[in-house]
Amino acid sequence: MEHWLFTKEHEQFRPAVRRWVEKEIAPRVEEWEREGRVPREMYRRAGELGYLGLKFPEAYGGSDDLLADAIFVEEIARCGSGGVAAALTATTGIGATPIWRFGNEEQKRRYLVPAIRGEKIAALGITEPEAGSDVASMRTVARREGDHYVLTGSKMFITGGASADYVCVAAKTDPSAGHQGVSMFIVEAGTPGFSVGRTLKKLGWRASDTAELVLDGVQVPAENLIGEENQGFRYIMINFQWERIMLALSSVAAAEKALEDALRYSRERTQFGRPIGTFQALRHKMVDMAVDIEKARSLTYRALYLCARGEDVTVAASMAKAYAGEMVNRVTDAALQIHGGNGYMMEYPAQRYWRDARIMSIGGGTTQIMYEILTKRLGIV
Ligand SMILES: Cc1cc2nc3c(=O)[nH]c(=O)nc-3n(C[C@H](O)[C@H](O)[C@H](O)COP(=O)(O)OP(=O)(O)OC[C@H]3O[C@@H](n4cnc5c(N)ncnc54)[C@H](O)[C@@H]3O)c2cc1C
Repeated sequence: MEHWLFTKEHEQFRPAVRRWVEKEIAPRVEEWEREGRVPREMYRRAGELGYLGLKFPEAYGGSDDLLADAIFVEEIARCGSGGVAAALTATTGIGATPIWRFGNEEQKRRYLVPAIRGEKIAALGITEPEAGSDVASMRTVARREGDHYVLTGSKMFITGGASADYVCVAAKTDPSAGHQGVSMFIVEAGTPGFSVGRTLKKLGWRASDTAELVLDGVQVPAENLIGEENQGFRYIMINFQWERIMLALSSVAAAEKALEDALRYSRERTQFGRPIGTFQALRHKMVDMAVDIEKARSLTYRALYLCARGEDVTVAASMAKAYAGEMVNRVTDAALQIHGGNGYMMEYPAQRYWRDARIMSIGGGTTQIMYEILTKRLGIV
């Protein structure tokens, strides 16, 4: 569907990504869901096509085009697996982003450029077993010792954590200073003391590995500090805005795919001598689904528009994430219902859309946290 936000070039780019997703991604979704990961060669392939660097400056191998990046996020979300989409968008979408925004030139050359090429996989390590919504309560510490920092603690629910070549990890450099004592570091896989504690079993997003990471006295060179010491909390909050827009874009695209499947099924399935889609109860349900998707898209594109203009998007991104994250749950639930018993069976993708949707109101900040942000920003309290 064309939209005023996108140029003619963008509208030509979209079908190219869609064809790639249909040809090279969608046919392998089942296999990767079973294996619990997307193979490395697919990151390289996406990198080769330029899809992992769309929003980054051309100097690092990117295209400097945030709207094209949004199209990639939407189209990959239509592949039929939220896990595949999460894996292929998290690496540069959230993993390498702190380096792009706040890292130095050397860090960008060493870590951002290979991630854009799909040669290195990046992950973002903020959440901990005891610190989720309350980011500032993290317990992982980084103690400066000569020319390196020693990191001790653990990270939880890290997307791509088991396959990542490096993780941008948040840790307290000044534990007495609350959120003003957080810093960010690039920690390479294979560094002594840095290990994958567990790869977690999940309801959905099965093609994307989600890991608990252990940091046991990990020596990180001082040059791997991202930006300035004790500025990490601010970096995390700034990065959250794009992550929330990405999640809203994915939610809208995934819901759209679920509705398309439900519509097709409702035309093919016959009961009481007529296609089930002709029953008013189901016809109207599908109209509700379409309207819900459009509302979420409007909020999401507004956030995207403001983001592309470089404006503060905290309110717009929080609204979009909150609404789209709940909407995709409503729509995929309705799509499963339209499939009847078949919707409950593993051989139909409706169950996966429903399972994959559940994370959208949790990851990247829960709906309740979005409401807390909005409460403050809208001056309600
Ligand atoms: C599949 C998956 C992938 C993830 N990927 C990453 C990743 O790559 N990197 C990373 O760092 N993190 C990642 N996360 C973590 C994710 O961001 C957190 O799960 C999320 O922020 C919520 O934190 P929590 O799970 O600790 O829940 P909690 O913070 O414990 O919240 C539990 C419940 O309490 C509610 N709650 C908490 N505080 C308030 C409040 N003030 N007001 C009202 N309600 C409140 C929440 O809304 C929620 O319903 C991932 C999580 C999952 C499940």
